Amino acid sequence: MALVTTTEMFKKAYDGGYAIGAFNVNNMEIVQGITEAAGELNSPVILQVSKGARAYANHTYLVKLVEAAVAENPDIPIALHLDHGDSFELCKSCIDGGFTSVMIDASSKPFEENIALTKQVVEYAHAHGAVVEAELGTLAGVEDEVVVEAGKESYTRPEEVEEFVDRTGCDSLAIAIGTSHGAYKFTADQCTRNEKGILVPPPLRFDVLKGCIDKLPGFPIVLHGSSSVPQEFVKMINENGGQMPDAIGIPEDQLREAAKLAVCKINIDSDIRLAMTAVMRQYFNEHPDHFDPRQYLKPARQAVKDMVAHKITNVLGSNGKA
Ligand SMILES: [Zn+2]
Repeated sequence: MALVTTTEMFKKAYDGGYAIGAFNVNNMEIVQGITEAAGELNSPVILQVSKGARAYANHTYLVKLVEAAVAENPDIPIALHLDHGDSFELCKSCIDGGFTSVMIDASSKPFEENIALTKQVVEYAHAHGAVVEAELGTLAGVEDEVVVEAGKESYTRPEEVEEFVDRTGCDSLAIAIGTSHGAYKFTADQCTRNEKGILVPPPLRFDVLKGCIDKLPGFPIVLHGSSSVPQEFVKMINENGGQMPDAIGIPEDQLREAAKLAVCKINIDSDIRLAMTAVMRQYFNEHPDHFDPRQYLKPARQAVKDMVAHKITNVLGSNGKA
């Protein structure tokens, strides 16, 4: 199977009450770890590339790595998506260069400007066989060049979504319901602490999600910033020379609930970064004499695979849905 768009994936996911994982890719080991897990679990998957990933690894290298993954996993649908495109030119360049899906993130702009830019990208994408994710509302947190201070985020306004989708023609919509980018999704002030002293984040705003679903029945919704920051990996990092105090994410059971509703795409990046970093830090501690990159990248790649397999099975519910 060649690279596909997300249209068919989202339709099946919507009707089937599950979501497709969108995992960020930056190098070969990450591409391999994600697609090996998806292949073994017979799950559709979205590989997404940020502007930062493109700057790091180069567009051509990333596209060729993804094409290799498609060749190695011919039985599952794989989409190649631009994460947080910030201009028409960037989106056009990715579509021209083989991506099947792009996000235009004009969510920081006023409503009318967001509509105008999104519409321009949609017209180009649809004329070239690609699909478009847009965004309304603003997430807090840090993702590559997107930085929004905690407290400066704004939830999506359900009363705006119908007009936005009608006027832009976008294929899916990312909304803000309390997820956040990065490994420090909430400040301690925003959280409570459980009996073990671990931070408990504020719950996702399912009322906002349901408000959006009421206005857009059948339309695929996207959640960004949906890593859960597993505490076992934070602990492993901190026990092996790292310093990540109070890193915190979105509880997986809440994401599972969202996946059963209209949420068809859930973005996960930080959890892969954490798993790789934890395993590599531990490896370096335990093997101070090793210096062959294959020695530590092999368990790091396995950690990516295990993390993605866990997400597909226990959070997204997309196993067996290829
Ligand atoms: Zn994002």
